[in-house]
Amino acid sequence: MATQQLKTPAGVLDLEAALAATDPPRSFSAFALTPLEPPPGDDRLEIVHFAVACKSCGGDAFHIGAHPIVAPADGGAMDRANLRPPHRLRCARCGATGMLFDPDKDGYNGVLCGGSDQPSGTGGEIFTPTPMKTYVAPTYNVYLPELQELAAQAGGGVKPSDLFDWINIIQADPPGDTYALELDYECA
Ligand SMILES: [Zn+2]
Repeated sequence: MATQQLKTPAGVLDLEAALAATDPPRSFSAFALTPLEPPPGDDRLEIVHFAVACKSCGGDAFHIGAHPIVAPADGGAMDRANLRPPHRLRCARCGATGMLFDPDKDGYNGVLCGGSDQPSGTGGEIFTPTPMKTYVAPTYNVYLPELQELAAQAGGGVKPSDLFDWINIIQADPPGDTYALELDYECA
């Protein structure tokens, strides 16, 4: 006999992700964020996805800034391996540009440990040539009471949602299951 599975119409965010959905990390504050409804399912999700828009003009297509190890002129087509943080986003419509993620300042290690073991680029920032809809998704593996305690101990206005331990930066147009570009970093 088949087992009937009851599915909720929309998935459920874990407490930490639900808090971040309503009070996003400060490092994303240069942009207007819209949390996406989690996909259907029974699992409580530790990740929350935000659609990113420009605070200046409302545009939602961006070029991603990155620091290549090999300049495209020298290494041919730009590939994922060339894209090093920190990552700024440039609005395709009005050109407004803001920082989205700097591993040395953002996320668990950036906020609490003063740095990151992620390789960062320095000079020679480039921007991806084709603007696309952009999403950012922090993940929280630390339980909410501990996150709140760590944020309070850190002081300086640190929010629990600042202490994400993974980040995905996604570009897709149209939004769907396949991404044109996905950058992800461990932050803890
Ligand atoms: Zn704009």
